[in-house]
Amino acid sequence: MEVSTTRRRPVAGTQTLIDLGELGLQVAAIGEDMAGGKPQVIDRTDHHALRGGVHKARKLTYAPVDPAMLQLRYRARDDLLEFASMRRCLSGVSAGILLFLSQSVSVAQDHDLVVLGGRVIDPETMHDGAANIGIRDGRIVAITQDAIDGKEKIDATGLVVAPGFIDTHVHGVDPFLVKLRLRDGVTTAMDLEAGAIRVGEWYAQKKETGWQTNYGTNASHPMARLLVHDPEVKIDGPLDFSVAPKYLNAAAADGVAGWSTTKDTVDTMNAVSRLVDEDLREGALGVAAMPAYMARGLTTYALFEAQRVGARYGRHTAVHTRFHLSSATPTEAALGFDEVFANAVVLDAPLLVLHDNGYSWWEIEEKLQLARARGMNMWSEYFPWASGSTIISADFLRPEIWEDTYGNKYEETIYDPQLDKFYTRAEFVETARNEPARNIVIIMKWREPWLPLWLAVPHMTVASDSISGHRPDGSLLPWNADYTEYAGHPRAAGNHARTLRLARENGIPLMFTVAQLSYWAALHLGDTGLQAMKDRGRIQLGKVADLTIFDPETVTDNASYKVGEHGRPSTGIPYVIVNGTIVVRDSKVLEGVKPGQPIRFPVEAEGRFEPVDVNRWINNNTITRRTLPTVDDMGVTEALERKEPQKEGALSPDIRRDELRKKTLTQYARTPRGAGSSRTDFSAQLFAYGPSIQHSFFCPIHQQLEPAGTAWTDLSQK
Ligand SMILES: [Zn+2]
Ligand SMILES: [Zn+2]
Repeated sequence: MEVSTTRRRPVAGTQTLIDLGELGLQVAAIGEDMAGGKPQVIDRTDHHALRGGVHKARKLTYAPVDPAMLQLRYRARDDLLEFASMRRCLSGVSAGILLFLSQSVSVAQDHDLVVLGGRVIDPETMHDGAANIGIRDGRIVAITQDAIDGKEKIDATGLVVAPGFIDTHVHGVDPFLVKLRLRDGVTTAMDLEAGAIRVGEWYAQKKETGWQTNYGTNASHPMARLLVHDPEVKIDGPLDFSVAPKYLNAAAADGVAGWSTTKDTVDTMNAVSRLVDEDLREGALGVAAMPAYMARGLTTYALFEAQRVGARYGRHTAVHTRFHLSSATPTEAALGFDEVFANAVVLDAPLLVLHDNGYSWWEIEEKLQLARARGMNMWSEYFPWASGSTIISADFLRPEIWEDTYGNKYEETIYDPQLDKFYTRAEFVETARNEPARNIVIIMKWREPWLPLWLAVPHMTVASDSISGHRPDGSLLPWNADYTEYAGHPRAAGNHARTLRLARENGIPLMFTVAQLSYWAALHLGDTGLQAMKDRGRIQLGKVADLTIFDPETVTDNASYKVGEHGRPSTGIPYVIVNGTIVVRDSKVLEGVKPGQPIRFPVEAEGRFEPVDVNRWINNNTITRRTLPTVDDMGVTEALERKEPQKEGALSPDIRRDELRKKTLTQYARTPRGAGSSRTDFSAQLFAYGPSIQHSFFCPIHQQLEPAGTAWTDLSQK
């Protein structure tokens, strides 16, 4: 048999599959093309030929799948969306996928583990049928209807065998949360939103202690900002969000959380980018970005630059968008999406939109669908609750924003799970000041009608956004803590089982839900070149044996907002297998069994950091080719080094911005020509205060800005 190096995505319609042995199945022919266009060949080798920042990718295409499956109509901006029934499309598919191929390279009794008689579901090949699975050395080596045997056996009769659930959004990177998650069917858990710093050491620590699930992380842009803008906070070794709260508290102790509120100069921006680049070099999966937590401190240019650092590696940026949760023009959530979306488009970079379950989600999903149809690797995630959870000091929860701008009421929306009560405005302000990292739940009733729709959006993945549990003394809950000790959002315990239950109650095809739980995260991360994800999220020969085995009729979440029930484990998931090793047996997490593997890019010898340089910017983007005159930045750079602008009442780039602009223009006009150049000072002006002041074209004679292309010397001689 000839093995092709190209492959096609499974598409809706009648398909003929051919067996490529260890390479799995390939769609050889399409009988019915529901997309109205021909399925396109994907050349993965070429797609990942990314070198030196030049993206030579031939576009992936998801077009054959999406438009046909998603028939979207909406009436008015605030109306609910109406999706045409997914089932109508999928019922046509199931008729065409009755074909079941016996995939087996071995029927000998040399399997480490066999899973017998389960209903095997694989979204990539659209396979849904009974099969026995043989596992050896952590990989799937047999999928067959023949009898097979092995050293260990699981009788999966009456159960579904699915690719292990992949959770791309977990802040609880600690053993207790891993245990909770295993009960919920998760085999791979990664913090792509907050990420980690000193990623090389982070992976080394996990390897040393061992881990029960697969683990991975993004490079943390917010924590790189913490290192640069809060130098008084001493951080030894790697840092992820399970232990970050105490450092966030420390950063705010001087009255200013620099990571959140301090605007970058070119120099600090370069310092942040340098840190992120180093963690990407060490194999981080992409860039974690949280503009909403620094909506006043993060300039659009700094965010663009953060995405560019990731794009040089062809890796994704995962974003908690700047105006997430706002429906108030001009801070509508979609605007916060648009900035990272536009950046990703022009950088030709992958994009993950985190928890796209707030206002504007319909607009964002529609744009993501259109982007995928144009060959871009972009996707989103949701958690199946109307409520969310975060730290109380989150920038968007400040009274001026949350109540005065967004129109919410603390008494109706901000719930403290540890105190089992809602806050008043006064209580909120006081607690946020005294304990900025305290975990609260945000109740958002307006989301309730949206929830059934999220279950039915293609390429929307399920991620928990789960946060660590702490004891009153601030220590992390240990692995063997009682489940009743966990205080936090119930999504930490019940996220994935809840999705399965809601999908069942709403008549969503199981194939589709499994794609949301496992496949699409693996697909999109794999398409960034990540081998560990190309090998997961599928049940095919040669793939990694991460398997979640559940009862489709009874699987359910049990966690609730009631005190003592926040961490109640899910039920109906009796077996979870990680890298071919049973970690959950008879619904019990096996203590000390740690087969988890790193999800990581190979470490590279050289980083790809390229500092922003204003002279270069001008030479690249204007016709100006001259040494720039000195611009006095009025001591802002020096003051920033002393951190003074962050103190109350001091010269602050935040509050004096307009005044500074005015003074800067005057100052500039007085500067003698040819007085030399100062890259740093000029940088501070051009980038810290926005590009609206075009120094190089300011005419001292006419006392106004001249159009681009006007030569300075000509004007001065008039
Ligand atoms: Zn978030
Ligand atoms: Zn989060």
